[in-house]
Amino acid sequence: MGKPTGFIEYKRETPVEAAPLLRISHWKEFSVPMSEDKLQTQGARCMDCGIPFCHTGKLISGMAAGCPVNNLIPEWNDLVYRGLWREALDRLHKTNNFPEFTGRVCPAPCEGSCTVGLKDSPVTIKNIEKSIIDKGFAEGWVVPEPPKVRTGKKVAVVGSGPSGLACAAQLNKAGHSVTVYERADRIGGLLMYGIPNMKLDKKYVQRRVELLATEGVTFVTRTEIGKDISAAQLKEEFDAIVLCGGATKGRDLNIEGRELKGIHLAMEFLAKNTKSLLDSEHQDGQFISAEGKDVIVIGGGDTGTDCVGTSIRHKCKSVLQFELMPKAPETRQANNPWPEWPKVLKVDYGQQEAAALQGDDPRQYQISTKKFVGDENGHVKELHTVLIEWKKDDQGRFVPVEVPGSEKVYPAQLVMLAMGFLGPENTVLDQLGVEKDERSNAKAEYGSFATNVEGVFAAGDMRRGQSLVVWAINEGREAARECDRYLMGASNLP
Ligand SMILES: Cc1cc2nc3c(=O)[nH]c(=O)nc-3n(C[C@H](O)[C@H](O)[C@H](O)COP(=O)(O)OP(=O)(O)OC[C@H]3O[C@@H](n4cnc5c(N)ncnc54)[C@H](O)[C@@H]3O)c2cc1C
Ligand code: SF4
Repeated sequence: MGKPTGFIEYKRETPVEAAPLLRISHWKEFSVPMSEDKLQTQGARCMDCGIPFCHTGKLISGMAAGCPVNNLIPEWNDLVYRGLWREALDRLHKTNNFPEFTGRVCPAPCEGSCTVGLKDSPVTIKNIEKSIIDKGFAEGWVVPEPPKVRTGKKVAVVGSGPSGLACAAQLNKAGHSVTVYERADRIGGLLMYGIPNMKLDKKYVQRRVELLATEGVTFVTRTEIGKDISAAQLKEEFDAIVLCGGATKGRDLNIEGRELKGIHLAMEFLAKNTKSLLDSEHQDGQFISAEGKDVIVIGGGDTGTDCVGTSIRHKCKSVLQFELMPKAPETRQANNPWPEWPKVLKVDYGQQEAAALQGDDPRQYQISTKKFVGDENGHVKELHTVLIEWKKDDQGRFVPVEVPGSEKVYPAQLVMLAMGFLGPENTVLDQLGVEKDERSNAKAEYGSFATNVEGVFAAGDMRRGQSLVVWAINEGREAARECDRYLMGASNLP
């Protein structure tokens, strides 16, 4: 274990971040790497408790408690404490194909379940994970490891997000010939065109894709299965198919004025921004600019926060973020005990930056948009809103009730809709005849990942609905094992 008394002696320390007003002038990551001796001290805080919930990855009250890929956290905390970085890296890669992604963007349910967190601040698990893999790359320890033997079996993976990439990595390891199809011009799914560059620098996505290609995975971009290649043709050419197409249907807000110019789904705004940044550092102008505009983001979640951070980097005039739900409490409530995911107020990077610029958190809670109003050119100019209260109806369900007299008008020349996702697109599922569940996701049991169609599996957001990178990696890995079992009769994959 780390240091037996480490959790008593040392305080939690997280990496220093560039000040909000400095970092908004660029699109780079802004967390400053920690020195090795500090990281060793942080590793020493791990008490190797009898039952480490941090790596259980169980759903408690519908939320992940502990690490969904079951990272062997106490083991690598101890190895870091003892300065055995290479061994820590090997231990980390046993359970997670892409720690450089999760170490940057995971909301770290592991830390919410850390036993030290019961009475003190949890171990800085996520930062230690990131530091192990960053050191691994810097030292040249992460090298291509192509399989020694090929099985002669061909697998198509549809979609190149974290689930598709993890699935491809594992199936390739098992010796199958894997082709990943992606309709976008770059590989990575939401790692590439969803999460902004300042949260996850795209050079890290590209680095991992190149490593996988060197190991033998074939990547085909700008090719949509169901349009450019029919699902039937794919089924004909491959021994198995794994569907990892994500849950890309954005939730819209069909109220008066929705047709006005200047109202966009969040993903259109975010994806175009990253593409233009990567193609030309924004010189091509092929993005939706927030410069000089009053921006309103409807949706208080992480996608909304990414819209806030992006608008600020465009130099918007002002930005607000609307949320239907009440403000979360500052500390855990009695009905949300450890080791559950702590449902507490999070002030993320976008809110910190908006507060530094505007003097206050941009989020407005319990606010509902009634209509959009446009100018004489058909461009949005204002939002009409009302405050709501959540009250129980006759059947005991919480429903929003408008507060009389709370109507307000907000100016806005750019509006982003970041209200979640409705599930996967239908084309490829329908062409293959894949059944859907009641939430319109591909129907496949967690654990088997097999759909109703022989030889067709589903994983990641396409199966589970919009979720997290770490769940996508977990599902991609596990679906690969089931696909391998289907192809070979047995599997050595974890
Ligand atoms: C803006 C945003 C920010 C997020 N931030 C975070 C975060 O900080 N941390 C976190 O853990 N999670 C975050 N998430 C959630 C996370 O990104 C997703 O849960 C995860 O990427 C899902 O992975 P996936 O592989 O299942 O699907 P995706 O990443 O959605 O990838 C699916 C890919 O399949 C492709 N595709 C679909 N259909 C076809 C077809 N027919 N043919 C070819 N290609 C196809 C799509 O183009 C896409 O590239 C965020 C999500 C969004 C939208
Ligand atoms: S992947 Fe996420 S939950 Fe797992 S150890 Fe890393 S930060 Fe924690």
